[in-house]
Amino acid sequence: MEKHIVKVLQTDFVTHNVKRFIIEKPAGYTFIPGQATDVSINKPGLENELRPFTFTNTNDEDHLEFTIKIYTSHGGVTSKLLDVNEGDELIIHEVFGAIQYRGPGLFLAGGAGITPFLAIFRELRRNNQLNGNALFFANRTEKDVILHEELNDMLGDNYVDILSEPTAPQLPAFIEMKMLKDQVLKGVNLFYVCGPDKFIEIMTENLMSLGIRKSQVVIEL
Ligand SMILES: Cc1cc2nc3c(=O)[nH]c(=O)nc-3n(C[C@H](O)[C@H](O)[C@H](O)COP(=O)(O)OP(=O)(O)OC[C@H]3O[C@@H](n4cnc5c(N)ncnc54)[C@H](O)[C@@H]3O)c2cc1C
Repeated sequence: MEKHIVKVLQTDFVTHNVKRFIIEKPAGYTFIPGQATDVSINKPGLENELRPFTFTNTNDEDHLEFTIKIYTSHGGVTSKLLDVNEGDELIIHEVFGAIQYRGPGLFLAGGAGITPFLAIFRELRRNNQLNGNALFFANRTEKDVILHEELNDMLGDNYVDILSEPTAPQLPAFIEMKMLKDQVLKGVNLFYVCGPDKFIEIMTENLMSLGIRKSQVVIEL
């Protein structure tokens, strides 16, 4: 199994519970925006605790970036990542993943499911190809939205926040059928979906019921 020990160069928080890691990029290591790798922490007892995370920067850069939601409540790897900072080491493995850009479409993200789309949007921005893409980003509250400002800068009116528990009154609370139907009627024919399993299931089912074929929906397999 491919295995690289890499130094953490920098960390910061992009929301109250989402931590960004800038890490070294091994020589010759490449990825396609949307792809991920298995990551563990290079500390005694944690080296073999692998969890998948998506690269959120672009492949042309000389470092790698992860944007990771920390779950303190279940004492797993992400809670240990709270204590991983500059100078510590991670172990990364081979690149994998089925999500990649196939052309303009509607991106449906739930929470940390935005991560593959961040890499894709950043790559599209670099190539001046963001036009024709839209994002519906579902979160619980305003403070859970990952990199709202950057997404807004990139997509403008084509970026819609959907908050199930907003502090300021806002509708709708969920990505409703009508919103998807409007997109289908507008001629959107490619859909990228990423988020919790239930989110993917519901979005995919709803799209199918609107006549969208499986081949038009890009998800992680
Ligand atoms: C291909 C792929 C790419 C991914 N990329 C990213 C990424 O870039 N950024 C990111 O933040 N996440 C990403 N994830 C999700 C990430 O891998 C998980 O959040 C992580 O493995 C959780 O590890 P853990 O050890 O902290 O939690 P684990 O204990 O391994 O729990 C795994 C999952 O189970 C659920 N869970 C378990 N226990 C509880 C509990 N007590 N309460 C609530 N929920 C619970 C959570 O949904 C959690 O995500 C990706 C997942 C996949 C499959």
